[in-house]
Amino acid sequence: PAPSAATGAAVKAADRAHVFHSWSAQGLIDPLPVAGAEGSYFWDYDGNRYLDFSSQLVNTNIGHQHPKVVAAVQEQAAKLCTIAPGFAVDVRSEAARLIAERTPGDLDKIFFTNGGAEAVENAVRMARLHTGRPKVLSAYRSYHGATAAAINLTGDPRRWPSDTASAGVVHFWGPFLYRSPFHAENEAQECERALAHLEQTIAFEGPQSIAAIVLETIPGTAGIMVPPPGYLAGVREICDRHGIVFVLDEVMAGFGRTGHWFAADHFGVTPDLLTFAKGVNSGYVPLGGVAISAEIAATFETRPYPGGLTYSGHPLACASAVATIHAMAEERIVENAAEIGETVIGPALRAMAERHPSVGEVRGLGAFWALDLVRDKETREPLVPYNASGADNAPMAEFAAACKRGGLWPFVNMNRTHVVPACTITAAEAEKGLALLDTALDTADAHTA
Ligand code: PLP
Repeated sequence: PAPSAATGAAVKAADRAHVFHSWSAQGLIDPLPVAGAEGSYFWDYDGNRYLDFSSQLVNTNIGHQHPKVVAAVQEQAAKLCTIAPGFAVDVRSEAARLIAERTPGDLDKIFFTNGGAEAVENAVRMARLHTGRPKVLSAYRSYHGATAAAINLTGDPRRWPSDTASAGVVHFWGPFLYRSPFHAENEAQECERALAHLEQTIAFEGPQSIAAIVLETIPGTAGIMVPPPGYLAGVREICDRHGIVFVLDEVMAGFGRTGHWFAADHFGVTPDLLTFAKGVNSGYVPLGGVAISAEIAATFETRPYPGGLTYSGHPLACASAVATIHAMAEERIVENAAEIGETVIGPALRAMAERHPSVGEVRGLGAFWALDLVRDKETREPLVPYNASGADNAPMAEFAAACKRGGLWPFVNMNRTHVVPACTITAAEAEKGLALLDTALDTADAHTA
């Protein structure tokens, strides 16, 4: 049916009849009915177009409806829609090769999953079996997914309702100079103290009981905190010294988001396991996975790996990954993310921080930026309290509503807005969105001291 307000209302009513939504009180939500999407935009049935500065859930790195990826899914659907994971299939092998060629170091074997959380679950399982140790360390200010182990690894409040004492997960503080847990005054201090804190956590937990340290290379939803130089190399060294498996979660930061294929490339660090999802095929078909080092792969050379999924390496998902990776290379999409970040987004956000009393800090790189919004630049008091809801969260809700009124779809989490557009975004589109963001920040300024 042609887009109309009546159709939009019917689509919403049908949703509310039977769809149970993630992370939501079902009676309190008002989902926008979406009629279509292309490139950096999506639109509703009322004629409103939104410039997508969230890339949905930071996954449409290649933009919406990329014609080469759409065609690849259609062609694969006509050829072979599904096949069990135990068979050898051309498109699965090709996706694995293209991914393995891009992952750092010797991460040359790929275990496919349907998304990020399952990738984290399997990475943890591999680490525990490889080391024979039970515990896993992860950072506060992190998100690793919503399944059993992944939600326990998560450091943000989404973990609290699902916390189980038996999960064997211990949290520690990663580096974050702007809100330093270590009272550091510069990046070098932050790095040194964060590594010392991790060493001490390991000593008190017992190094012989720790299977893995799981970190987002650059924590995403938790605030896009680019780690200081030397931190990840320091963690690598600590892991090596104690025989701990180093897992980098690149579900959000991977596949071009930061202006490199993987965020680990910025730091010259190779983990033992690397989890990916989202940008691998921009979510056109659900796909995630674990890239596995030669040493860990060897553990399962003659001993069976006790894990699997009916849809592991699904042909439609793999076809979309192959087409996505080719398109990203041919169209210089990773390079575009790097350039847009350096020449357009970064400078514009820094200028906004000068003008707006509510912008406490600007952080990021590539198509991966955060504005830390505050009530007071001196005290750095967050614009809304940690994990605020209801009336306490009103300043952020007002800011998001102002963005949407202007035609910008923002990413908002706690006291932050993230600028995470498609990696394909043009300079003109980025400038337009940044101007809308600039205007919407006036609503946040109204809540400053
Ligand atoms: N890991 C990170 C770093 C993420 O950002 C996410 C999702 O946002 C996940 C894991 C979970 O991925 P999924 O939602 O595909 O299960």
